[in-house]
This record gives sequence, C-alpha cells and structure tokens, in this order.
Amino acid sequence: MRLLIIEDEKSLSMALKELFVCEGFLVDTAFNGADGLDNALSGIYDIIILDVTLPKMNGIEVLKEIRRNNITSAVLMLTAKSQTDDKITGLKSGADDYLTKPFATEELIARVWALSRRKSMEYVTETLRYADIELDRTHHELKKDGKGIKLSSKEYQLMEILMLNKENVVKRDYCISKIWGYESDIEYNSTDVYISFLRKKLNALKSRAKIKSVRGIGYSLGENE
Ligand code: CA
Repeated sequence: MRLLIIEDEKSLSMALKELFVCEGFLVDTAFNGADGLDNALSGIYDIIILDVTLPKMNGIEVLKEIRRNNITSAVLMLTAKSQTDDKITGLKSGADDYLTKPFATEELIARVWALSRRKSMEYVTETLRYADIELDRTHHELKKDGKGIKLSSKEYQLMEILMLNKENVVKRDYCISKIWGYESDIEYNSTDVYISFLRKKLNALKSRAKIKSVRGIGYSLGENE
C-alpha cells in the first residue's frame, strides 16, 4: 500500500511517516498543498492523509482537485477542533474519513488500516480482461482459456498498470514510481527486465495480447493481428 502524507508540521509529518513505514506502508510526504497535489495527481497512492490547514493551497482545495481529476485514492482529512465546518465541507468534497487534531496515533493507524482494507476489497472483487487474457487480482495469475501462470509481485504490479491503461502508453517513470516509489534508486531500465518476463509468460499462454515498447517513453498493451 502506498501512502501520501500532506502535512506542513514537519515534526508531525516525520513522526507519522516513521509510524506508517513500521506498519509496512510505502510513504511519501509533502509539506504544502501545492506539492501535495502534484504528488497526489500521479495517481499512485492508495491512501492520502491530508491536513486541512496548509500553506500555498488548503486541504479542501487540494481534495477538490484530486477528485476533479478522477483520482480514486482514499483520503483521510486531519482537521483542527475549531474547524467543525471543515469536516462537513471535507466529506462533501470527497474525503473518505476525517480525524480531529489532536488525535491518538493508534486511532489514526486504525482508520488508515480500515481504509486500506476497503481499498483491497475493491481489488479482490475484480478480474481485469484484455484481448484473450484475464488478470486474476486475487491470486496474481495471468490466465487464458482456464490456464493460468503465476506472476511475481513486480510482474503483477506492472501487468496491472498495463491492463488498467489498456492501449494507452504508460510512462516508464510512472511504473517506477508506482512500483518502487519516488525515493527509490532502482536502475532506469529495471522495468524492461520485468516487461521481458511478462512477454515470455504471454507467449507461453499463446495470447494475442502483446506488450509494445514505445521508445524513450514507456509501454502499451496491444493485440497481435
Ligand atoms: Ca497544518
């Protein structure tokens, strides 16, 4: 699960980051509304913790922009006690939950886990289809005509991105930040390695689906004629 924390109080933000890294989340942070929105619009986060009072752009504006751009990350808003109106405005603007400051960290962790469970339920109920193949999101298997091949975790994440964007070009940078995170220092061409594994598996299934490379940009899913 990828988590973004948009909070301008650096000490709080750092403490929260540490906490959620220990809980097994991949965490990025932003210290003002504009930077936070920039990160959020990448669409790579499952959950966003969003403070209401932020410099450059407040939390409500950030949230509205996130939803206006059809980003489906679950958003938990942090509001101050004096901002009761903000709760209502926040939830109306598309927040999934809110917590009033000051809060107990156990409470925040519990709420975030609840949102992440809801997020993974969305995944479990779905099978993605393209051309003659299916991606089983529960068992991480690529299937054709009832035959299945197991995918490794990285292969699965890449295939999922390709199938969600079928026929559109997916940038290599996007794949890297979604799978390895912004702060990773993986080799730029590592995605090529996993793409070649996926191609072998598509061949093994004798699928019509084909992963095309778009030079200097990324990849797209297409069909063999
Ligand atoms: Ca603040």
